[in-house]
Amino acid sequence: MQKTAVKKIGILTSGGDAPGMNACIRSVVRKALNENIECVGIMEGYSGLINDQIIPLDSHSVSNKINEGGSFLYSSRCPEFKTEQGMNQAVKICRKHGIDAVVAIGGDGTFAGAEQLAKHGILTIGLPGTIDNDIVCTDYTIGFDTACNTTVSMINCLRDTCETHARISVVEAMGRHCGLLTLHAALASGAAIVVVPELKYDCDEIIKKAVAIRATGKRGIIIVVCEGCMTEDKESVAEILCRRIKAETEIYASFERFSHVVRGGRPTVRDNITASMMGSKAVELLMHGNSSVVVCEKDGEILPVEIHFALATQRMYKNELTEEDRKDFTEDRIEMMEHICERRHHLIRKLYKLSRDICNLHLTDLK
Ligand code: ADP
Repeated sequence: MQKTAVKKIGILTSGGDAPGMNACIRSVVRKALNENIECVGIMEGYSGLINDQIIPLDSHSVSNKINEGGSFLYSSRCPEFKTEQGMNQAVKICRKHGIDAVVAIGGDGTFAGAEQLAKHGILTIGLPGTIDNDIVCTDYTIGFDTACNTTVSMINCLRDTCETHARISVVEAMGRHCGLLTLHAALASGAAIVVVPELKYDCDEIIKKAVAIRATGKRGIIIVVCEGCMTEDKESVAEILCRRIKAETEIYASFERFSHVVRGGRPTVRDNITASMMGSKAVELLMHGNSSVVVCEKDGEILPVEIHFALATQRMYKNELTEEDRKDFTEDRIEMMEHICERRHHLIRKLYKLSRDICNLHLTDLK
């Protein structure tokens, strides 16, 4: 494809922050400057576009940022950007600063914003930055590995005290409605039981299993539950389990919520490498005239996926794809979406099965 003349890229981080976002910003800036494209930072996500918070970015602006967690461009949620008035104001600010392309690092909400901005004439690229790894079109999102490692470190600390006092620790892990972070952390920390929202669970069975594990002589027992596991009344399943274990068994249980602390910290090698690859790819894509695409990792390759397709696949995964949505895609594309969703379901089932297969008991009757 022919190279096009993008002159100035605006970079922003939006929605929930994730370790590796700084490496991603750095990669966009350095790659762009090497291609003689100017860069500016848009502060605090889309609200910086509306409120005209634009800062110059040169090569030194991104020095010594690669190993910092969070985002030095800051982040926020900006409901105003969803309105026509907010969008028009954002476009006006882009024009004022000569920004012809915006690279937006964030989750699916951020991509929805980028898609709208592209419809208003600004080139946009979305980069997946979220600790949840909940964007189905990409195998990986920036921040996931660091968050998994932080969660494992915290579980390891818990394990020490749990073992000493012969307790059950019920951990509520991050990940919203995606169980991948929970499954990875549970597997890598050797947790006895893992509970994720994608797969059926039964609190009675979990408690029975914990008691059976204790009966084998195991002192410390870790149960990791994804935060997305909630009752219809929005009560945390992890909290319920802890309360019930204390009330219904002889074992003492403690509850631990691993909340925003998991979002911070120094990014791992995996996050910084992927962030660097994706940031550089975003600039290449813009130079080749691409817009309204999200940079994804698939089977180790970094490649673009149209935002419209990526967001529709998200809806399909959540069983929210409407008949209206389907009209935008050919049968082949719908089949491709189904395949992507099935791949994700398969991964979740595979990791879950592994965690059960290597549990210290052969509790086949409790499986
Ligand atoms: P994430 O990107 O982590 O999923 P959010 O869902 O909060 O986080 O989205 C981040 C921001 O993206 C929102 O605060 C809003 O500014 C913008 N956004 C989300 N959805 C839309 C939309 N449909 N149209 C325009 N902007 C949107």
